[in-house]
Amino acid sequence: MIYLKVIRVVSKAIIDFVFPYQCQYCKTILAPQEDVWCTKCRLTIQYTNYFNMPLNPVYHMFSAFKDVVFGGSLWFYDKKSLVANILHELKFMRRKELAQPIGEELGEELRDSPYMPEKIDMIIPVPLHPKRLKWRGFNQSEEIAKHVAPIIQAQVVSDVLMRAQETDTQSSKSLSERWSNVSGAFQLVDPEAIRGKTIMLLDDVITTGTTLSHCLRALEHANPKSISVVSVAFAGAKRF
Ligand SMILES: [Zn+2]
Repeated sequence: MIYLKVIRVVSKAIIDFVFPYQCQYCKTILAPQEDVWCTKCRLTIQYTNYFNMPLNPVYHMFSAFKDVVFGGSLWFYDKKSLVANILHELKFMRRKELAQPIGEELGEELRDSPYMPEKIDMIIPVPLHPKRLKWRGFNQSEEIAKHVAPIIQAQVVSDVLMRAQETDTQSSKSLSERWSNVSGAFQLVDPEAIRGKTIMLLDDVITTGTTLSHCLRALEHANPKSISVVSVAFAGAKRF
């Protein structure tokens, strides 16, 4: 087994050496000014521009929560898009290194947003269930948050909100089933850490908003100063 692992590591190193700068998606050789994804692939990514629109669909999705003052996503999510592929590689192929370019791009867009609260005290990544965390080895939202945080001068805090119970895979469930499945799934461990603070709640993809709504319900008990809800991708609305 150990030999197989060594062979795999060595062959990957050789491939990386021979083909050092391939586009992560289409595998064409990158030009010197390109990074991670080639220009052609990047042009297929659909940006929401929500961080420049205060009353965008992500904000509206969560505006009923009294503490939510700002919301937005970086990219639109479509099943067969590059965005879907990037997030699939990160989450299911466990390519943790992709969190860096994603987080940096998200961080820069947030930094340049005229509507984000001036100072974010802490970024709280949506927690994974311990079983899933064990399988993946990392929480993708937390990894992305680590690269967003230095750009907006915030701190990542991942131990105040916990996933309290098992949730099955959400994708095949109806909306009402999802609600019953996730209900009560999050627990606030340290309310004092949140009281009076400006919070940014961060997830990878927003679909129905159910997961984030449950996080918000848990967080609002601690009376934070404000909450911003941010994700990398948004699957829940039509273009406009
Ligand atoms: Zn490409």
